[in-house]
Amino acid sequence: MAQDYYELLGVGRTASPDDIKKAFRKLAMQHHPDRNRDNKDAEKKFKEINHAHDVLKDPEKRAAYDRYGAAAFEGGNGPNGPGAGFNAQGFDFGSVFGEIFDEMFNGGRSGGGRPGGRADMRGQDLRFNLEITLEQAYGGTEATVRVPSSVSCEACHGAGAEPGSKPQQCPTCHGRGRIRAQQGFFTVERACHTCHGAGQVIDKPCKVCAGQGRVRREKTLKVNIPAGVEDGTRIRLSGEGEAGTRGGPAGDLYVFLTVRRHGLFEREGPDVHCRVPISMVQATLGAGIEVPTLDGKAARINIPAGAQSGHQFRLRGKGMPIMRSTQRGDMYIEITVETPTNLTAKQKELLKEFEKAGKTSPEAEGFFSKVKEMFGGDD
Ligand SMILES: [Zn+2]
Ligand SMILES: [Zn+2]
Repeated sequence: MAQDYYELLGVGRTASPDDIKKAFRKLAMQHHPDRNRDNKDAEKKFKEINHAHDVLKDPEKRAAYDRYGAAAFEGGNGPNGPGAGFNAQGFDFGSVFGEIFDEMFNGGRSGGGRPGGRADMRGQDLRFNLEITLEQAYGGTEATVRVPSSVSCEACHGAGAEPGSKPQQCPTCHGRGRIRAQQGFFTVERACHTCHGAGQVIDKPCKVCAGQGRVRREKTLKVNIPAGVEDGTRIRLSGEGEAGTRGGPAGDLYVFLTVRRHGLFEREGPDVHCRVPISMVQATLGAGIEVPTLDGKAARINIPAGAQSGHQFRLRGKGMPIMRSTQRGDMYIEITVETPTNLTAKQKELLKEFEKAGKTSPEAEGFFSKVKEMFGGDD
């Protein structure tokens, strides 16, 4: 869903702030809703480029995006990948990694919400990618994640003003936070450059946060992962995103879950499939075998004599839990009969003897008699 911000703006990763601004202006004019009435694609594009620009124009955000966001697009993920610094704790370490970047999910916010309102002060939503194992998805788990974020400054209680002083109404926008400006054909409303949309200016900025009202801090959060979550499940932690500027409301944190591929089980919705190899002799004579199940235990299945490859067994209720339900999917065991290899001379001898003793492959015989009917019907 997320697209590379540089690509969106059509600039290189080393583009100067000026290039970014130029590229943005050009695209914004092209996709501006005033020029593309009732065109949903243009509207979407307009929002996307706005957001990409919002991030890339801010040196701090751009650096964070370069560092954490890139991993999500280049596929270079792994336990020691770029996100390793933010690995969740409390899992076995290689099993989880995450990276984070500012992400805007609330489309209404860039489109100029309530003019003069506090919308612009709201902190960014954050995205945290979390990879879990199929077993964790099966049983549910509590993950502890460390999220780099900004929190409200304690020294000034988020106001941005040195304790004892008070913010004043901005003289440029008279407290509205936004100003109107002519840009080409359009009158656009944008954040006031004097107060950056706050509507207030600070004479004596707080020394701890340099007037921002928030400071960078890594915070630790517990995330409850319910049993049965699927790949792509999104968990929202309300108010756990970036702190707002100068007392604005905090954004939300979205945890995006990826369920890692399992070596033995393949999930298909609520059901789980497992392929179990058995020997030719087990298949021929029948056998009781133990198969692994996701609860970490084993289930016993009886293979009937003469079972063929592809034969399936259903273990009712041994699949994944279904979220918001007490039901469970099923588990399907499919057997594959393994052809013997690396035989000793003695084993080969025995098999030749076995073959001589009589016909044992009804399906093959049926097949070859049909072939004979087709091609050799003369004699
Ligand atoms: Zn402060
Ligand atoms: Zn202002």
